[in-house]
Amino acid sequence: MKGGDSPLQNNLKVATQIFDIPSGNKQRKFAWILSLFIIIVSMAVIPFGKEMLPDIHPFLPAIISWFVFGDLITGYILFSQYRASGTIPLLVLSCTYLYMGLIAIPYALTFPGVISEAGLLGNGGQTSVWLWVFWHGGFPTGIIIYLITGLVWKDPLISKQRINKYGLMAVGGSILSVFIVFALVTLGSGWFPNIISKGNYSKLISSGVGPVIWILNVMALMLIIIKYQGRSVLNLWVSVAILACTLDVTLTLFAGARFSLGWYLARVNSILAGTVVFYSIVNEVNRLFIRLSEQHRKLSESERQLEEANEELTRLSNLDGLTGIPNRRQMDEVLSKELESSEERSLSLLLLDVDYFKQYNDYYGHLGGDHILKTIAQTIYADVKPFRGFVARYGGEEFAVVLTNLDAIGTLLIAERIREGIVELNIPHEACIASDRVTISIGGYVVAPHESIDGDELIRKADESLYRAKDEGRNRSIVNGWYDGYSDFEI
Ligand code: GH3
Ligand code: MG
Ligand code: MG
Repeated sequence: MKGGDSPLQNNLKVATQIFDIPSGNKQRKFAWILSLFIIIVSMAVIPFGKEMLPDIHPFLPAIISWFVFGDLITGYILFSQYRASGTIPLLVLSCTYLYMGLIAIPYALTFPGVISEAGLLGNGGQTSVWLWVFWHGGFPTGIIIYLITGLVWKDPLISKQRINKYGLMAVGGSILSVFIVFALVTLGSGWFPNIISKGNYSKLISSGVGPVIWILNVMALMLIIIKYQGRSVLNLWVSVAILACTLDVTLTLFAGARFSLGWYLARVNSILAGTVVFYSIVNEVNRLFIRLSEQHRKLSESERQLEEANEELTRLSNLDGLTGIPNRRQMDEVLSKELESSEERSLSLLLLDVDYFKQYNDYYGHLGGDHILKTIAQTIYADVKPFRGFVARYGGEEFAVVLTNLDAIGTLLIAERIREGIVELNIPHEACIASDRVTISIGGYVVAPHESIDGDELIRKADESLYRAKDEGRNRSIVNGWYDGYSDFEI
């Protein structure tokens, strides 16, 4: 794998850096189109902004619930990301959204005509408009603090304790500030200058409060564009959100009054400000999830391939390269397994050695010898198969056969059958001093049921028989060990 990163490591990297995800071309294009669209629509409406429209009572509560929902969820997701990453700017951004989501609630409740004619919660006539000021001033202020902390706090917090402590303080501070603002604009409404009379907003401009809020929004918009240029997904959509808020303020200032065309469109802009970031996060999480499942699928696929390759490797490491039958390694395993479980049955081991094979090699060459070894291996394998025996290449030109449920007679009969099978192959052996064709000698030993013996001892005993078979003239089988006087084996 290139770069040494596993798919899993890549996933983890993506997951921890969700808010550093660079904005793709498509996203940037979409953000531009949306921004231009809202700028054009808002500008086009400005000349008719004062046009009065019908007072649609459910409009404000509907739009505010959407706004509150969007902002609180955005704040919550950003806060979770802060807790995971310890990035202070994310905490500031999450608290900005928390503040906005919360302050919109008393705004709706105190707005005249929404719940009661005069507005609830001690509306002093100026309450909801001042809440609007703190709301639309709060967002750019939060963004400016977010940008400043981005400059100051380059390293994320590491200690969980500190992350929790700062998180708690910031969240507590945001909730408290909403309460303080609310207390000020209701209980202390007398201290605030009048910026609205009979639903008319002209004083909002002449008092200077409106322009200050507007400048604050424009400043935040310029700063975020200068600093980040929408390079990351998060900053791209926060920039669109602050643009929507700026247009919201612009339209409100030009609207002149509640329920005018400008006022209605301004509220639509606040919805955008409140939800674009939320949708971008949902979109990013969704894409991340899709990528994660794709990676997971790929990972399972490569795991499966690895498993198959391992199985193949094990299979190959248990086979003899020349003859293709099991090798000594596998034979040792089979033998020790059989010895462990051979309590109820007998176990026979045959060792087979080619006679005068050195001379064969000397006469026919090593490759000729190899060819014969393959033929002999296949012949033994075929002869033993009907008896469910196990065949292995034990050494150079030696083979081993493991059989069960046979006594010495039964084992000897099979040994003889194998030996004769090799003779019947009629492989010429010109250089042999004893025979004109290739022959083998077989030595065997049978372990009785319940007899305790280890593998080495069994091999030693079978080897003894083989040695005797060689000694007595070769091309013969000798089997020792258990004989029960009766065998149900028929040949
Ligand atoms: P005997 O067993 O009858 O006493 O005589 P031998 O000539 O077969 O003696 P021994 O078993 O000691 O010789 C084994 C020979 O087998 C020696 C070696 O050249 C040959 N041999 C071992 N492994 C291979 C192999 O993989 N290929 C070939 N062609 N020959 C092998
Ligand atoms: Mg030998
Ligand atoms: Mg030999």
